[in-house]
Order: sequence, then C-alpha cells, then structure tokens
Amino acid sequence: MLSARAMQPAASLPDLRAARRVVVKIGSALVVDDATAAPREAWLAGLAQDVAAMRARGTEVILVSSGAIALARRALGLTRRKLRLEEKQAAAAVGQIRLAGAWAQALSAVGLNAAQLLLTLEDSEDRRRYLNARATLGTLLNLDCIPVINENDTVATAEIRFGDNDRLAARVAEMVEADALVLLSDIDGLYTADPRKDPGARHLPAVEHVTDEIMAMGGEPPPGYSSGGMRTKLIAARIATGAGCAMAIALGQQDRPLRAMEQGARCTWFLPEPAGRSARKRWIAGSLAPLGALVVDGGAAR
Ligand code: GLU
Repeated sequence: MLSARAMQPAASLPDLRAARRVVVKIGSALVVDDATAAPREAWLAGLAQDVAAMRARGTEVILVSSGAIALARRALGLTRRKLRLEEKQAAAAVGQIRLAGAWAQALSAVGLNAAQLLLTLEDSEDRRRYLNARATLGTLLNLDCIPVINENDTVATAEIRFGDNDRLAARVAEMVEADALVLLSDIDGLYTADPRKDPGARHLPAVEHVTDEIMAMGGEPPPGYSSGGMRTKLIAARIATGAGCAMAIALGQQDRPLRAMEQGARCTWFLPEPAGRSARKRWIAGSLAPLGALVVDGGAAR
C-alpha cells in the first residue's frame, strides 16, 4: 500500500504548457533505430516540431540526448551488450558526431539552431565549472538556441561519470532552474511494480514525495543497450524535485511525444518540493559525488 503522503490527487498536476523553461531527456532507444543503427529521422523531425511549438509560445527548451554510443556500436563491430569503458569512449567519439548532426538537421528544418554541450560529472560537481556551464547555457538560451546536451563520454572515466543521462538531465534542470523536466522513456510512468512482470502493477499519475517507499519501486536496470532503468529516473526525480522542478516520466516512442503529453497522454508527474533553498544549497543537495568533512569542536561536542 502506498502511503497518502506519496500520492497526490490528479487535479493539481503540473501543466507542460505553463512551463517557462523545460529540459527534455531523450534516451538512445528513441534516437537510434534498433534494426538499422541509424538515427530515427522521422521521429526526430516530430520532436523538433514539438520543440518549435513550445518555443513559439515562449517556453525555453533544452534537450539532453543519449544515442552517441548506440549510433556507433554497429559500425565499430561493438555489438556485445556490455562494453569496456574504453570501447564506450571510442564509440561515443564516433557516434557523438552523428548524433549532433542528426539533431542539427532536425532542428534547422524548423528554423532552430542546435548547440552542442558535452558535460562531465565534474562540470556539475565543481562549483566554478558548474557556474561556467550555467552561464553558457544562459547565453545560448538568450540567443534563442536549443542546447543539445550529452555526457562527454569520451573523457569520462569509470569513477567520475554520470553513466546515465537521467541524472545528468536532472542536474541540468537544477542548473538552469527549469520548472519542468521530462524524461521520455519506453514506459508511460512509474508503476507500483514492474508491469512487464506483475499484472497487478498500478500506474501512478502523481508522486508528491520521492520517499524510500517510492525508490523501492525502481527495481533492476532493463536488458538491452540502455543504461538507465527506473532506478536512475527516481534518483533524477529526487534531484529535480528537490530543486523545485517538476519531473515527468512519459512515453516517447510515438510521434510528437511532447504534444501528446500536452494533450493529456498518461504519464507520472513528480511534484516539486517547495522552493526556499538558495541556488547554492540546491547545487549542494543535488550533488552526485558528495564529499566533505564535519568538524565538531569541543563546545559543540559538549
Ligand atoms: N551518454 C550515452 C550516449 O550518448 C548514453 C547514456 C544513457 O543511456 O543514459 O550514448
């Protein structure tokens, strides 16, 4: 049973149409055709139309797109499920060019300039680099560009990498003070159990607080090439909602998925925690590699 605190009635769900600044995370399976290992151009074109419609009504949009590794695996003969880190780095180096090209093409077809940003975990954890990335994103948005962000997989090492774009997207949403983060996925939201295994699993339209009980619904990562799964999405929800940003998990496979959401397609909304923390405290709270020391002097100890 879900506690009353974890759920919220559907009446107060966030509305994507009212958002001022939105981050949209797009997984590899949406960008890359499994059969041909090429970009899914028609789908990308539809998403670009959604972005153009949002821009036209004044919403700023930032895309976080995976797909670099998936776009290069076949060409490089790296089709085993598990790749070594250096193989992923090489595949990302080859695939990122194709990925950026596919986005630049799709967005220019609707009159928008794509801007590529490759971030590492250190760019979000180190305060100076974080502020620098935030300033660059601000300038790009002022210039009416659509930032397309991915992890800089080619230089990220095992200990210091996001590894999945769910958490990267949440850190970006927090960085730019977005009011909504949408994770486009192969599932239309969070269920009380894995619906592929448990026919009794119930869809949750809204989650008010990402409690430990909610985290426990994350389960194991899925098979296939993707690196995320529900668990990293729930960690992303903690980061985003803690920074005052609403987050949705929505189905991405169909054409024009953002328009579908605006027209009421089923998804799960994670409601933002009330604002009140300073930007610096939100940055600290969202840290993925916390470090520090607690000093207790004699007086405090007494
Ligand atoms: N950054 C990786 C890529 O572009 C994907 C990470 C993820 O799947 O979340 O291939």
